Amino acid sequence: MSRLVVVSNRVALPDETRAGGLAIALRAALKERGGLWFGWSGRTVKDVPGPVHTLADGNVQYATLDLLREDHEQYYNGFSNRTLWPLLHFRLDMVDYDRAIYAGYRRVNALFAERLAPLLRDDDTVWIHDYHLIPLAALLRERGIGCRIGFFLHVPLPSSDLVAALPEHGRLFSALSACDLVGFQTQRDLERFQDYMRLFGHGRVLEPGLIEGPGGRRFRAGAFPISIDTAHIASQAAAAVNKPAVRDLRTSLAPRQMAIGVDRLDYSKGLPERFSAFKRYLTRHPDQRGRLTYLQIAPVSRGDVDAYRNLRHELERSAGHINGSHAEPDWTPLRYVNRNVPHATLTGFYRAARVGIVTPLRDGMNLVAKEYVAAQDPADPGVLVLSIFAGAARELDQALLINPYDLDGVADAIASAATMPRDRRIERWHAMMEHLRAHDIAAWRRDFLQALDAA
Ligand code: ADP
Repeated sequence: MSRLVVVSNRVALPDETRAGGLAIALRAALKERGGLWFGWSGRTVKDVPGPVHTLADGNVQYATLDLLREDHEQYYNGFSNRTLWPLLHFRLDMVDYDRAIYAGYRRVNALFAERLAPLLRDDDTVWIHDYHLIPLAALLRERGIGCRIGFFLHVPLPSSDLVAALPEHGRLFSALSACDLVGFQTQRDLERFQDYMRLFGHGRVLEPGLIEGPGGRRFRAGAFPISIDTAHIASQAAAAVNKPAVRDLRTSLAPRQMAIGVDRLDYSKGLPERFSAFKRYLTRHPDQRGRLTYLQIAPVSRGDVDAYRNLRHELERSAGHINGSHAEPDWTPLRYVNRNVPHATLTGFYRAARVGIVTPLRDGMNLVAKEYVAAQDPADPGVLVLSIFAGAARELDQALLINPYDLDGVADAIASAATMPRDRRIERWHAMMEHLRAHDIAAWRRDFLQALDAA
């Protein structure tokens, strides 16, 4: 088996204790094959960045590079998060584009290629992650790199007409034809990519999943829905009921049931709409008054970007308004917490919640939805209310699927979830859990790497 080289914006070093599920899965793949993880060090410098920092841990090497402060600002906060993130989440109205930040994005990708190329061997397998590094494969090819290269897009890909609104879209997205395999979260994302290549990318779709790029190079494309470590989350959640934080939460709720939402504070997550839908639930279902307390955990994210600051203010106002008009002296319907919770505790919170509310306006996958299901008590599981615009909805079809723009529909789904009889809850949960057991994060990385090896 060839050596695996993972490239991502951030590298999770071996001593990083807060590494998420994806980082753990990638590290497992690196350990299995022996490998190298390359990316940004997390540090910015004022002067020309020095050489890559290297670190070895068994058969896995880590190589990280610092970035110039203004390059990082333009590449990361700029083009990645102000231009590509909204565009790829279908929010053309929020796209902030200028040529300077695009130039910074290209500079950083070129620096990645320059520093990575000398570390590569002919028989390596390179796996590039996400929208920060779309041009990288092509930049590596320009440097004569001939080894196998795969790319996985963790976020959605919108319709080609939206992609085509981005100046420079042709150069950016057609560059993916330098890869041997391009992976997406869902079949729909894959179809939209094929449409894009056909209509705007000067390419040809030879058969589903086999594309000829503008230069005549053929490459594969496929759907590889990312997942979670299902067994681990299930056992973590079962053990978490004894954690003081979980017990305290349960005690503070009794005798009421809880609905939970857990999201980075991001406009793609549909939080203002969700708050409005919860308010609608309170007014449309007066018979259920006082039955459900809704806990929303939403750690602040990308606080340097204006759109995120504005969203935060909007949600604070909305939360205050909901509680102001619906709270009782002994009951606060909405608990709104802008904090990170240790992941093991979070799984205990999921398990304590009768309803999981996941209503993004767009989401590549949404791992919270899968985590919520995996964390449930098999004998008394909760009900997932899930947006049809999350990639996870393709797989978790036993959730109560809703359109997040339909506030009445979301309100009614919350009400049905809160009152669903146990046998129906078990039936729905069981089907979803079986799927998640068979399609966990280890299966995801194996599927992608097998397809890349075969490409
Ligand atoms: P995104 O990648 O857009 O943030 P996902 O739902 O796919 O959305 O993944 C979010 C991950 O972050 C999940 O693993 C979730 O458990 C974790 N997470 C989100 N909010 C918190 C929080 N407040 N505390 C701890 N972990 C969180």
